[in-house]
Amino acid sequence: TNDTHYRGRFAPSPTGPLHFGSLVSALASYLDAKKHHGQWIVRLEDVDGSRCKTQYAEQILHTLHSYGLVSDELIRVQSQHSDQYEQYLLLLKKRHAVFACNCTRQSLADYHGQHPHVCHSTTDLAHSWRLHTSGQAYCCEDAIQGELLFENDLASNAPVLKRKDGYFSYQLAVVVDDHLQQITHLVRGADLIDTTAQQLYLYDLFGWQAPEMCHIPLITNHTGDKISKQNHAKAIQNGHLPTLLRALHYLRIDFSPGDEQANSIESALTYAIRHWQPSRLKGIKDLPLEQQDLHF
Ligand code: GLU
Repeated sequence: TNDTHYRGRFAPSPTGPLHFGSLVSALASYLDAKKHHGQWIVRLEDVDGSRCKTQYAEQILHTLHSYGLVSDELIRVQSQHSDQYEQYLLLLKKRHAVFACNCTRQSLADYHGQHPHVCHSTTDLAHSWRLHTSGQAYCCEDAIQGELLFENDLASNAPVLKRKDGYFSYQLAVVVDDHLQQITHLVRGADLIDTTAQQLYLYDLFGWQAPEMCHIPLITNHTGDKISKQNHAKAIQNGHLPTLLRALHYLRIDFSPGDEQANSIESALTYAIRHWQPSRLKGIKDLPLEQQDLHF
């Protein structure tokens, strides 16, 4: 790919403050973009109005800023673009790629929250829109994880694209936005590998080219779980150099003792851009926090 066209992004959902794991993800996407002399764009994925808060969005942007991570373009806020998601959903309706569903959580209990078939709901009751299941298999080359093969991912579940309550799903919004923003490379946490096949399928349905993929290892806590808002990951301190250096360490970027480049956030980032090499993380899906970092 042509370096001058590289466009990467960091797309947090403002359901909590930035934690150590999300700092590592933000850094990876930033370093990869800057290493390729590309643009790095921040997008707020706040489509889920029941979980996202403006206060968190502001906090996240402030924290990113304090680490020198500043979006090269205006920040796109998904909740302001429902009309666009509606247009693209309409396109899928016209192609009969989606169906109306008013199943409830209880009615799907036997399917472990998945929806493996077409139900025969009518559109006059409150309903969601789901993507049809498909036998299509996908394969893509991931810069860190190697070949990702999705053989049956689409066959057993019909994901919701628009919820009964009117909110669009992450799956639809992320594909539409990455396309509209001409994102060429996704660098994001390995927890999102599970969402990739559905996204590749949507790219196909729209006739768009999918971005290059790179899934970085997840930082896990002492119980082996991903550090996440769900398990109460703490907010990181703003502009705290030692936190930045530890985050870079998990991306396999270390400084020699006494290295002056480790003396400020700015110079550490410059050094990190030069030394970032995704291949050092080859095949790694998770990275347990080291003893000294358990407070994160
Ligand atoms: N908004 C998603 C999240 O916070 C990330 C989306 C993505 O990188 O594709 O988990």
